[in-house]
Amino acid sequence: TYREIDESTVYSELEDVFILSPQRLRDICKVFVKEMEKGLENDDCTLKMIPSFVTNRPTGKEVGTYLALDLGGTNFRVCEINLEGQSKVRLRAKKFTIPDSAKTADQSVLFDFLAESIAIFIKEYNINTEKDINLGFTFSFPVQQTALNKGTILLWNKGFNCANSIGKDVVTLLSEALTRKQLKVNVVALVNDTVGTLMSHAYVDPGTCVGVILGTGTNAAYVESAEAIPKWKGGPIKSNEMIINSEWGAFDNERKVLPWNKYDQQQDEQSTNPGKQTYEKMISGMYLGEIVRLVCKDLIERKILFGGMSSTEMDTPGKFETAYMSRIERDHTAELTDTKMVLQEILKIPYVAPRDRRIVRRICELVAIRAARLAACGVAAVVTKMNRVDTGCTVAIDGSVYEHYPHFDNRMRDALHELFGMFSENVSLQLGKDGSGIGAAVIAALADK
Ligand code: ADP
Repeated sequence: TYREIDESTVYSELEDVFILSPQRLRDICKVFVKEMEKGLENDDCTLKMIPSFVTNRPTGKEVGTYLALDLGGTNFRVCEINLEGQSKVRLRAKKFTIPDSAKTADQSVLFDFLAESIAIFIKEYNINTEKDINLGFTFSFPVQQTALNKGTILLWNKGFNCANSIGKDVVTLLSEALTRKQLKVNVVALVNDTVGTLMSHAYVDPGTCVGVILGTGTNAAYVESAEAIPKWKGGPIKSNEMIINSEWGAFDNERKVLPWNKYDQQQDEQSTNPGKQTYEKMISGMYLGEIVRLVCKDLIERKILFGGMSSTEMDTPGKFETAYMSRIERDHTAELTDTKMVLQEILKIPYVAPRDRRIVRRICELVAIRAARLAACGVAAVVTKMNRVDTGCTVAIDGSVYEHYPHFDNRMRDALHELFGMFSENVSLQLGKDGSGIGAAVIAALADK
């Protein structure tokens, strides 16, 4: 039988599960700072806190032409970047689609494909290679970095799995492929995308101290002072600072402080990496839509939503995309017409009453607000760790969730205000686009000096 539960009762149940109090934010932030400190002391911690070997930030005066390669996100890109000084950048880029066959064959197939793409790019854009050209390589897979231009591949993810590559230096693999194609290109830097985002924004705003990705996954890099990295055994650092890649997606894998609920538990169990990337699973684009789907399914089974009627789409993991949440939250029509479109046309729910639309919209809001507030905790922890709550800094953020999700930015700011009070105004959140390409070029330019 169909139980018509009072709408406000549904809301208060959902709010109990998803709303984070200001006190909870403070608790999370505190634990976050401690975990960062642990990761800086030794390896084998939840937060990997990886030294990037990038020890200088740009002044905006750097000049030169560089190539950049960006592998690991949704697309593979080759870019030519002209640093023109005075914080000005010109960028030309071309996207390539990696054939699935190259993702899971011998590593030489993948790296030959990358080299071939560079060759095509150089020809198409008429790039002068009389003198060797320097290239920065943004490689967003787990590597053990051992020098600015050296890092061994630890494992593959995101659908990649190349034979004969684990434990090998990824720069050597690329350089060998370039040599096979007789291309005069030097790979001078191996860059994580968060470090790239930080460095690229620092070229235009020298006050930038943090780079954050809020896209398919989430991660952050920030400027740490050398003496705060006890595990660093690489000798004295002239600048006395080092950009650290936090790999913060793994925060609270122990489940000590995050508000982990039954939907998070289900999401984790059905994922390819249960028990891992706990923080990321509550925040990033790959997971938010799925949480909403799991909540909907629960309410459908309890006959609270859609009169208890589901659909194959609604029953299939991954079918409720995070981009739909964006659409639903942008729907300001009185009848929630676009929300109805998404639920009926895309997700094939047979009948969606106005009440159902309001409930789904509220679920999207609650899941996204929690994500934004948790992301703000990470930013607050990093700013606290850097001792910059008083002095302030710029945080460059890249990724579709931050860029396209409505109110994500304001929701983060609200949470920062709850954490820092009036000092939150010192923390400037800025969209940093094309960070992985431009950042790799900036790092290549600094390596050149
Ligand atoms: P990547 O992180 O893979 O380099 P993006 O930053 O574009 O690339 O992030 C892609 C993720 O963003 C996907 O998981 C997708 O669900 C999510 N996404 C795409 N469009 C939107 C949107 N309009 N609103 C919110 N999330 C989106």
